[in-house]
Amino acid sequence: MSCRNTSELHILGSSDQLVLQPLWDQLRARDALTQSPLFAVLFSISTYVGFCLPFVVLDVLCPWVPALRRYKIHPDFSPTARQMLPCLGQTLYQHAVFVLPLTLLSWACGPAPWPREAPELLQLARHVLGCLLLFDAEFFAWHVLHHKVPWLYRTFHKMHHRNSASFALATQYMSAWELFSLGFFDAVNVTLLQCHPLTVLVFHVLNIWLSVEDHSGYDFPWSTHRLVPFGWYGGVTHHDLHHSQFNCNFAPYFTHWDRILGTLRSK
Ligand SMILES: [Zn+2]
Ligand SMILES: [Zn+2]
Repeated sequence: MSCRNTSELHILGSSDQLVLQPLWDQLRARDALTQSPLFAVLFSISTYVGFCLPFVVLDVLCPWVPALRRYKIHPDFSPTARQMLPCLGQTLYQHAVFVLPLTLLSWACGPAPWPREAPELLQLARHVLGCLLLFDAEFFAWHVLHHKVPWLYRTFHKMHHRNSASFALATQYMSAWELFSLGFFDAVNVTLLQCHPLTVLVFHVLNIWLSVEDHSGYDFPWSTHRLVPFGWYGGVTHHDLHHSQFNCNFAPYFTHWDRILGTLRSK
């Protein structure tokens, strides 16, 4: 009986793994390309710009399509090209000057060999959630510190607050120190949890999407904070309030840290 259960569990585990194996095999077949440092930087930029693009199109359409304004947190605000282009320029500049050299350095130290097996789907989901919760806690602590210490705010975080009504391309409008801190938290978390490379990729893509959504300025019926129950997730409405009021909603995604420390605010 116990042998049968063990074998059933093994089969279940294998089928769970099989879901992601074809995708993982495809990536492994192109590992010379996908493990190159230039690919990592180009993938990061194109994922970010790709997630921003639909919101840029909506912002351009908004003055001519009044129906869109009901989903806007600030219905009368549409970012201009003079606001959006410096933000895009900052992202490209920082990836070229800071992210690419760091990625090259890590690549020169020797990339870790990729395993043959894909991660199990449930393990991938657990690790991605773990990375998100850790990132949320770390950025909450960093964010509170950089608001409470005036020198830290002026020197490192003020730049991100230049746009009080945020828009998608303003997501990565930040100082090099802030970008480095976010990247450091990302790297520490995936190392701490010993994530599979495919899990790391999924976490990075999800993290980029959630941060862009946070700054998009649009509150849709399918926005993440409306899909997660019990008000556990703050998302775009909470982060927008942080940009306009400064002293609340310091966590980027979830609400528990702000709730515990009394800094949670809703509209
Ligand atoms: Zn802030
Ligand atoms: Zn922000």
